[in-house]
Amino acid sequence: MHNKTLTELKAGLQAKDFSARELTEHFLDRIQARDGELNSFITVTREQALQQADAADQAIAAGDHRLLTGLPIAHKDIFCTEGVRTSCGSRMLDNFIAPYTATVVEKMAGEGAIMLGKTNMDEFAMGSSNETSFYGPVRNPWDTERVPGGSSGGAAASLAARLAPGATGTDTGGSIRQPAALNGVTGLKPTYGRVSRWGMIAFASSLDQAGPLGLSAADCALMLQAMAGHDDKDSTCLNEPVDDYLGGLDQNLDGLRIGVPEEFFPDNLDGAIADNARAAMGELEKQGAKLVKVSLPSIKLSVPAYYVIAPAEASSNLSRFDGVRFGYRCEDPKDLEDLYKRSRSEGFGAEVKRRILVGTYALSAGYYDAYYKRAQQVRRLIRDDFARAFKEVDVLMGPTSPETAFKLGAKADDPVNMYMADVFTIAVNLAGLPALSMPSGFIDGLPAGTQVIGNYFQEGRILNVAHRYQLATDWHQRIPGAFQ
Ligand code: GLN
Repeated sequence: MHNKTLTELKAGLQAKDFSARELTEHFLDRIQARDGELNSFITVTREQALQQADAADQAIAAGDHRLLTGLPIAHKDIFCTEGVRTSCGSRMLDNFIAPYTATVVEKMAGEGAIMLGKTNMDEFAMGSSNETSFYGPVRNPWDTERVPGGSSGGAAASLAARLAPGATGTDTGGSIRQPAALNGVTGLKPTYGRVSRWGMIAFASSLDQAGPLGLSAADCALMLQAMAGHDDKDSTCLNEPVDDYLGGLDQNLDGLRIGVPEEFFPDNLDGAIADNARAAMGELEKQGAKLVKVSLPSIKLSVPAYYVIAPAEASSNLSRFDGVRFGYRCEDPKDLEDLYKRSRSEGFGAEVKRRILVGTYALSAGYYDAYYKRAQQVRRLIRDDFARAFKEVDVLMGPTSPETAFKLGAKADDPVNMYMADVFTIAVNLAGLPALSMPSGFIDGLPAGTQVIGNYFQEGRILNVAHRYQLATDWHQRIPGAFQ
């Protein structure tokens, strides 16, 4: 059962080949048996999952089939879930039981989805390797000496190991796409504002966006169909009609114009990574697409601009964790100042502190214009670059990540090197565009991913491109040997 996609499992449930309870128990048992090797879950919600499964079986018996009825999903531990610990990978929230449920989780549950549990992640979604989690690193199922990427590393690893058939993630600078690439799964970051951020613990509010990770583009389309849409509780969630993502998947690619930005193939890029992305585009050419050279000259400034804007917003968002209102509180505080200081020093890990310091500095009087304002100007240039490119092409493509999964600890002491893991993904967040990573082959036994970027609200188009690619290839169906 665990080798099937959500789309296949949905058909199996409808045909009554198995019940939602059997399906859910199968995945819960697999998590119990195998997650010790990966650490991809922080919390497993067995009882609740089985209750939801029984409710799904009753709905199925009554002929009530919704988008996700009876399908088990793993949620990133950044989404608030009422009555269940929501840690955000941090000691600060190790004891935090959310009093309400995030819109994304609620919408998926409303469509009949079952929550298996909460997946491991970099602390407050800050990282590219899942090594900053308070709960310890996640291991990559393709090679357990290697990282799964981050910050949605638990989501991507649990999928690759077939411990969950579908997952949610969030992407502020690459956190859905980069781990999807490193684990050989498909992940979609929607247009900023396509999916509600309500109940999703904030990292950098102008960049954060939730999206699905799945075993195929069709599965991502199914999950996005349930997640997307306006939410009164999030003022940045746009009131645009939701497309029929599933209906558009099969469209042929005749005449599709694929822009190939030269900046995605810099001279110092690993040749195997470049060849891999070029081969994926070659496959689409066979299906009638045309490749067009384009340039995004400002994109080289995206990593530096992001590492001013994201920490600035994080320093403001994370000021709410003060030891008083929620989360961790130090023992025996001497006075209020001691309470703030020690709760925050003991509750946050090193990377989170680094970001708070950088962000506070960038926003401080006298430096604001030099850093934050300038970074916002760069952001505008990047957006303009994309707008120019999308006048000529329908989608943009290139590698998702400059390298395959690296060894645990390889970049742990070198933050700037770690920040470069998102060199191809970050500009998309700065511009607010939708983008997807799809498995496109293997390099020395490790998965590689290719990124497909669309214009605003073109999720349907990029899912269509990835689906057509997946009809012609089987990279997305490969399973790590130890987890067959
Ligand atoms: N790796 C990037 C960072 O550390 C992006 C993280 C994310 O998308 N949440 O900020």
